[in-house]
Amino acid sequence: MTAEQLSRILKENGIVGAGGAGFPTYAKIDQRAETILLNCAECEPLLRLHRQLLCLHTQQILDAFAQIAATVGAKEAIIGVKAEYQETVEALKQYVPRYPNMRIHLLQSAYPMGDEVVLIYEATGKVISPGGLPIEAGVAVFNVETVYNVSRALNGGHPVTDKLVSVVGEVKSPRTVRVPLGLSLGETVALAGGEKEEFAPEELSYLVGGPMMGRLGSRQDAVTKTTNAILVLPKGHPLIQKRLMPASVGMKRAASACCQCETCTDLCPRHNLGHPIEPHRFMRAMSSHDSKDTAAYQNLFFCSGCGVCELFACPQGLSPRTLIAECKDGLKRAGLKAPSGVAPSPVTEAREYRKVPEMRLTARLGLSAYESKALLDDNVQQAKRVKEPLSQHIGAPAQCIVSRGERVEAGQVIAQAAQGLSVPVHASISGVVTDMDQSGIEITAD
Ligand code: SF4
Ligand code: SF4
Repeated sequence: MTAEQLSRILKENGIVGAGGAGFPTYAKIDQRAETILLNCAECEPLLRLHRQLLCLHTQQILDAFAQIAATVGAKEAIIGVKAEYQETVEALKQYVPRYPNMRIHLLQSAYPMGDEVVLIYEATGKVISPGGLPIEAGVAVFNVETVYNVSRALNGGHPVTDKLVSVVGEVKSPRTVRVPLGLSLGETVALAGGEKEEFAPEELSYLVGGPMMGRLGSRQDAVTKTTNAILVLPKGHPLIQKRLMPASVGMKRAASACCQCETCTDLCPRHNLGHPIEPHRFMRAMSSHDSKDTAAYQNLFFCSGCGVCELFACPQGLSPRTLIAECKDGLKRAGLKAPSGVAPSPVTEAREYRKVPEMRLTARLGLSAYESKALLDDNVQQAKRVKEPLSQHIGAPAQCIVSRGERVEAGQVIAQAAQGLSVPVHASISGVVTDMDQSGIEITAD
């Protein structure tokens, strides 16, 4: 199979990175990739889906991973997996020797091993330049569920119509479920037994994506191609309170309490890889309205948003990550872009000792009580109604091609890829199109 053919199949089947931002996978099929990496770090506390999926469908996923390697002509295919995922590692050890040029790289239980810049360094020793793309260093990284979706597309032309979601926190039976795209978060939580009865609905909040990098969601929001987890927490939990705090309050707190201890910078995973991001310097410049230290602002573009500075490092409980994101948005709106051609400094000698142990992170976040196996049920759950967003990926939103009242079959294209970077959206259930607007297409089952 040629790279063009594989790329076309992935685009037609609507495959995007199932882990984070939803980068269309077809655009990663690039013959400059000398190394391809399967990301099974799964470093967000409480998430379980990748290790479980890889353990359950090891051969199927490795077949697809090997197919990608052969198609792009990669010299090496590496599986980055944490040593503590013993069952998954054992399953991998059985199959990996069957594939030439494939190896397992065992990772420590530290956060954020799943950040692709960190993972690439751990597995290959290469440092991606600040603001650069992995492919510039000859590397392409794929998420486990993404490669599973590639295998389904290659074996039977199954488009992306469902998503694995870990449902954890204040729910009766934490578990990982496979749901049709567009199912509401509330209905997805119901599949894990629903919210615990000791809480009134208004006393709980949903954190979507994971405790470190997730965002607040509502019960009506839809599961998309990138929804990894729903963490149900009491409204008073510090993780929820932190996200509800207005940036203006965060700024005032920074001005009055930042003692410039530099712990945020010392523990910043990107900083320790030699990227010029220094959260303490930004906090100083921002809170003292210092407009002369321009580098403190320009270098914000190199922040990954991992949250280590804000949720683990800062002894004062300040919010560097949130303030950086706010400022970065403002700079982008003003038309400013990341500085280009910035070379990384040498990796810091102390990096090895500054990794954030996952168990301590979970405890610091107040989540130890929510640790659970969240066992995976791989059967696609039924839905009476879904509303599928047109934008579930980075790039241009898909364009609706169905009309109200039209009958659609599961797997049928209901929104075609737009010009440029984009992928189509397929019906996740069979039924009738009952509503549509700019945000999505509603289908009601027969
Ligand atoms: S969120 Fe904080 S710790 Fe993470 S990359 Fe940005 S500045 Fe560094
Ligand atoms: S860790 Fe907190 S107090 Fe210390 S420099 Fe960073 S923001 Fe300021």
